[in-house]
Amino acid sequence: MALTRRKFVKGAGTTALAGSLAGGIMPQTLVQAWSQSSLELGNAKVDVLSDGNLVLPVEFLLGDVPADEVKELITRHSLSADVMEPACNLTLVRDGERTILFDVGSGSNFMPTAGKISGSLEAIGLDAEEVTHVLFTHAHPDHLWGLLDEFDDPMFANAEYMISKKEWDYWIDPETVNTIGEARQTFAAGAKRNLESVEDQIIRFEMETEVLPGIRAIDTSGHTPGHVSYEVRSGSQSIVVVGDVLTNAIYSFENPDWRIGSDQDQEMAVDARSKLLDQLVSDKMQMIGFHIPYPGIGRVERAGSAYRFVAG
Ligand SMILES: [Zn+2]
Repeated sequence: MALTRRKFVKGAGTTALAGSLAGGIMPQTLVQAWSQSSLELGNAKVDVLSDGNLVLPVEFLLGDVPADEVKELITRHSLSADVMEPACNLTLVRDGERTILFDVGSGSNFMPTAGKISGSLEAIGLDAEEVTHVLFTHAHPDHLWGLLDEFDDPMFANAEYMISKKEWDYWIDPETVNTIGEARQTFAAGAKRNLESVEDQIIRFEMETEVLPGIRAIDTSGHTPGHVSYEVRSGSQSIVVVGDVLTNAIYSFENPDWRIGSDQDQEMAVDARSKLLDQLVSDKMQMIGFHIPYPGIGRVERAGSAYRFVAG
């Protein structure tokens, strides 16, 4: 196995830390062991790894929702009227043969509060090079930009990458940066740069197909043009890695028809959300939400004419 620049620096850091500990000097900073949550799924083990969290203006997310409805939500749940701090939950599935990571997190160039996957991997004793497959829900920064490390080397050097063909075609198109609108131009430039770096290793799949044995891509386009959720089956059990169709434990369920600022095609996203919620209830499936409070594992129940997220 090649010694990457990241490994070399990490190795050097460890030695220095060990040296300072041996000398009885407290290190300046300690590596934070990020929390981790696990569940068994048939023969597979599922871990949810924290990549930290985002800090987003409420106005950006809920600016298109009538102000009195937003105010009611904020008051009833004692939320901040200025910012939301959604979690970033990365799902890892290990079945003895494959080590599959769903999305790779933000990396170090998006927000200082996110891009913490290295600490989470360390906490479970997994080397990034042991990941065999990386499956993307979509190509937004908080899901994709962790692909390259701080030296622009691939973080998951031995992985096979997979993304929907629709998502790939949209972000790789040189015209996208010109048509996406000013607010999302950095998203477009970053997606293209990151995706191009794995152009030769990435598989582009069709929607509603089995992308790997036991893993099916569910078309949940709307948040981005080719967004997918993944149904993961092992034995008689299954779980859905939902991505960004359901981004908030309260309003994505209570108000699935709200038009959310982070959804690129808001109407299509509303349709995808309603359809998936309906399926999660009817099939009594467990889900993992990328931005739902850590670890984002739970089930969906019907509540009146809408839904409710039940953690666990
Ligand atoms: Zn996201």
